[in-house]
Amino acid sequence: MSTTQASPTGTYVAPSTERILKPGTKISDLYRRNMTQLYVLQRLAERTWWVQASNYGTVFHVGERGVLIFDTLEGVYDNITQAIASVTDKPIIAAVYPHYHADHIGDIAKYVDGAAQRGVELRIIGSAKTKQSMDLANSSFPRPAQVIDWPRGSFDFDGLTVELYGFEWAAHTDDHSAWLLKQDRIIHSPDLINPDQPPFWRFAGNERFRFHEDNLRQIYDLAWDYLSGSHGNIGSRADIDFQLQFVTDLKAAVGKAMADHPFSEFVDPSADAHTGFLANFFATISREATSALRPKYGHMYGFEYATPPNAEMVGWAMFEYR
Ligand SMILES: [Zn+2]
Repeated sequence: MSTTQASPTGTYVAPSTERILKPGTKISDLYRRNMTQLYVLQRLAERTWWVQASNYGTVFHVGERGVLIFDTLEGVYDNITQAIASVTDKPIIAAVYPHYHADHIGDIAKYVDGAAQRGVELRIIGSAKTKQSMDLANSSFPRPAQVIDWPRGSFDFDGLTVELYGFEWAAHTDDHSAWLLKQDRIIHSPDLINPDQPPFWRFAGNERFRFHEDNLRQIYDLAWDYLSGSHGNIGSRADIDFQLQFVTDLKAAVGKAMADHPFSEFVDPSADAHTGFLANFFATISREATSALRPKYGHMYGFEYATPPNAEMVGWAMFEYR
């Protein structure tokens, strides 16, 4: 499988814990580093770093009293905390739930315990929508103690202003959002986009395709130089441009496949249930659309795995929203 990078900008550098990354540049050999290193750590601002382990990433900010971490990513607590310990002795004293998916908050108990061992009560921060969503889902994880107004709110962390931009109509989850580290000009929106890749499986685990393009556009003009999507490389507006172009091409390919293979083609009166009609329709649409995109995108990272399910999501949205 090709791991050719899909960067629209194409400038790669080895990661540095010291040197602040030039906006628009990316980490070289990121997939290989994720698979062979304990963590990948890159400085983005005077007191803020981007970190990734096992293809899961986030950002953290070192304040006067301690560290603010975004996401308490599931399964990589040791990796992330060792990365943090390589640049500061200060304890992690606050954590943001970016949205309530378990893979982005699942190690919260370890962060709570880690803080307690340093004599600190971890401050859990999240949006009002996240708290509501967790209540509704009977989430097993502790609720945010500091609740940020939805869809717009902010908090201060030792002089760093963090602004919440919640997606009122979201593709990913009901509480999906972007968090702007204002002075650092970093936007962190896990699962909005995997920068430097064609769209990941189900557009990075979106619960629906509808609103995906809207959500990308909603952060486009905010005041940031670095985009952290948790997965994928460090991003820029060129990555959003690339993603929107890919979606445009995919919609065109899906539309053509639907015109070439109307639903009526899959209606089979001899079948024992009508359930297969739609399944076969979408299987055909997604296969044909993927083939149509292959000449332009087929060499890029993960294309063959992600594009059929993405084509099916786009097909469903185009079928239902006319
Ligand atoms: Zn998610």
